[in-house]
Amino acid sequence: MDQVRIDALRKNAVPRRLHMINGRHVAASDGATMDVVSPLDGQVLTTVARGTVADMQAAIATARQAFEDRRWAGQPPAARKKVLHRWADLIEAHALELAVLGVRDNGTEIGMALKAEPGSAAATIRYYAEALDKVYGEIAPTQDDVLGMIHKEPVGVVGAIIPWNFPLMIGAWKLGPALAMGNSVVLKPAETASLSLMRMVDLAHEAGLPDGVLNAITGEGAVVGEAMGLSMDVDVLVFTGSGTTGRRLMEYAARSNMKRVYLELGGKSPNIVFADAPNLDEAAQVAAQGIFRNAGQVCVAGSRLLVQADIHDAFVARVAEIAESMRVGDPLSLETAIGAVNSETQLRQNLEFVQTATAEGAELVTGGSRVLQETGGYFMQPTIFTGVTPQATLAQKEVFGPVLGVTPFASEDEAVNIANATVYGLAGAVWTSSLSRAHRMIRRVRTGVMHVNTYGGADGTVPLGGVGQSGNGHDKSLHALEKYINLKTAWIKL
Ligand code: NAD
Repeated sequence: MDQVRIDALRKNAVPRRLHMINGRHVAASDGATMDVVSPLDGQVLTTVARGTVADMQAAIATARQAFEDRRWAGQPPAARKKVLHRWADLIEAHALELAVLGVRDNGTEIGMALKAEPGSAAATIRYYAEALDKVYGEIAPTQDDVLGMIHKEPVGVVGAIIPWNFPLMIGAWKLGPALAMGNSVVLKPAETASLSLMRMVDLAHEAGLPDGVLNAITGEGAVVGEAMGLSMDVDVLVFTGSGTTGRRLMEYAARSNMKRVYLELGGKSPNIVFADAPNLDEAAQVAAQGIFRNAGQVCVAGSRLLVQADIHDAFVARVAEIAESMRVGDPLSLETAIGAVNSETQLRQNLEFVQTATAEGAELVTGGSRVLQETGGYFMQPTIFTGVTPQATLAQKEVFGPVLGVTPFASEDEAVNIANATVYGLAGAVWTSSLSRAHRMIRRVRTGVMHVNTYGGADGTVPLGGVGQSGNGHDKSLHALEKYINLKTAWIKL
């Protein structure tokens, strides 16, 4: 990777950004815009259209029209596959440009952004391009005089609401399977990370996706997101973000057309280290990476570190040492380990968690403060608390920032009880040399994803989804396709 090219791209002026409706860039119906503030320096980077309810309704109507006339679903699978591959090619060709634009908008460190954003998005789109002509219907094992057929149909119009932490990766997790199955989509990027995703939407059109099949509206969740949720013409809503918004989307669905709602929400994922871990130093390195990368703004972040009592002090000291060696700062420098917090609001919330943890009696081992304030950007030290009780706020509420809470445990049973004592169930890990213990923990810890002797990094071949209040449904893998198809029975008398 080339720092010189990154530094050249970071100086580019960013033109104002409009909606994408029916293949055209369109301003908000009332002409309103909103500022995009860069978390790198707190300065206005550009503006985006501040969408109105009318804009969202226009995008949905366009998507409905595109679906009904079958301009996309009606194309031969090979043709759709070609468009999606061409889109992935274009994302790869523009990878650095997309990554730098995204980092200027959301603050992720560039090394991670390149892999996790355009890199992952292109791979996801290719995966579903390859999958689309391998999804067959079924013939039911009926009696002789009937034929029972099960067709797999696109659902129609998909509404996709995306968060700010990994807009391209998470966007592709929704767009890839939705478009592969022949649906039309209306996309709603997050207020604080829309630029790279909107650019990726442009590239879909350059790749030959027919106008109207993929529409995107920027603006406030409470306005355009709500209008999408309440629409009578959106068939499926797919969402990644907070539990608060997830609840609202379920209410919107109940108040409108009872659309299907799939939620990928937050977590409070336990990273459980036993004294018999095969390599405690590696476990410490990965524990630090698993919570501090992208300044902790990762849905599966290992934000609760459960450490067996006999190794607790030495292990925590090692994680703290690693945390202190991680360079916080300019996310566009290849030397940075921890980039910016996405917004001033998010930074303030993180610091409030620090205050609460201290007030509740946890011990601050390292970090806890804002740094590099003179840059105008939103930076925070990697922060570790010990003595976090299982009931403490820091053990129960998702921070979504670089804050790790450590809790000791004595036995396997106690580790399981602590691990399962939250409303969440997204991810977790166990570090042990015992094969039997590893399998017992996989079974007993209530999560959608369990890691053994590693943390994070699961590729697109496996599903990601939570249990409990971490959500429902799955992104990634062939299982994700289920969200974007309807089963239709044909019962034929012979
Ligand atoms: P958020 O819920 O505030 O926003 C997410 C999206 O929802 C944004 O696009 C926003 O504009 C939109 N939105 C907000 N209010 C809305 C409303 N009333 N109606 C419709 N849409 C609305 O969450 P966030 O702050 O952007 O993201 C952080 C949260 O997302 C964290 O809790 C994190 O754990 C979670 N997250 C989960 C995963 C996962 O895969 N499970 C991945 C990333 C982030």
